[in-house]
Amino acid sequence: MKKVTIREALFDASEFLKKHHLEQPVAEWLLRHYLNKNRTELLLSLDEELDEDVLTRFCDDLRRHATGVPVQYLIGYEYFYGRRFLVNEHVLIPRPETEELIESVITWKKTLFNGQAVTIADIGTGSGVIAITLALEIGGDVIATDLSYDALSVAKKNAEALRANVTFLHGDLIEPLLTLDKKIDILVSNPPYIPLKDKATLPKNVRDFEPPLALFGGDDGLDVYRRLIPALPSVINRPALIAFEVGAGQSEDVVTLLQQTFPDEKAEVIYDINGKDRIVLIALQQA
Ligand code: GLN
Repeated sequence: MKKVTIREALFDASEFLKKHHLEQPVAEWLLRHYLNKNRTELLLSLDEELDEDVLTRFCDDLRRHATGVPVQYLIGYEYFYGRRFLVNEHVLIPRPETEELIESVITWKKTLFNGQAVTIADIGTGSGVIAITLALEIGGDVIATDLSYDALSVAKKNAEALRANVTFLHGDLIEPLLTLDKKIDILVSNPPYIPLKDKATLPKNVRDFEPPLALFGGDDGLDVYRRLIPALPSVINRPALIAFEVGAGQSEDVVTLLQQTFPDEKAEVIYDINGKDRIVLIALQQA
């Protein structure tokens, strides 16, 4: 095989990505990953030759990316709230919007519970990002549930690698919590909320590669909220905080569902950095 410098490999890869209408920085992202270099180190080594096995892997991954495989599944991780989480095709790739859910929960925890220890539940934990981040940022007793054994196995690895103390339970939504002899103070969820009718318009990398179980919430995307919210009174403490991520345009319906179950308190909508409705939360007062 012809010798290729890092500079040439990066240039060719950028051209390839451009041709396929993909984001060019992916080339640098992949190379930094294989070579275990930060940006400065990579730029300082542009004239070095690329090992043949690295070059082969680089070309393979670029080709797979061009078929739609997200880079995060190729390299096996994504950052969330400043920490690195393992991901694979069994879990949703964490999104920056979800970091805003974490921010809201941390702020409300201080208001509602001050320094008190709390029991936290993350419903549909996927890679575990929410449960693990809250365990590390807030502490307390953290429980996470998921219907997918494969997702739970990723989440457990993440908790172990990040030394987070989280109890993972298998089952549908809050079902695993019903057998516990404690009530939840903070319940958080980023459930699958994409309307099935939007499937055709989703980007290929999402539609064909992220797990459908983590993406779709029935025809209008609200199925999980509809099943989850009315079931909450049996597991929730008072006072409590309930916080959901929602899809843009869904907040009004989710607020209505919450008000039906908790008519005495007022649900709130929080907009994300792009001005889209993104989080719905409700604080329940002491009984
Ligand atoms: N809780 C995980 C996350 O926020 C998974 C969410 C999901 O699969 N819908 O990334």
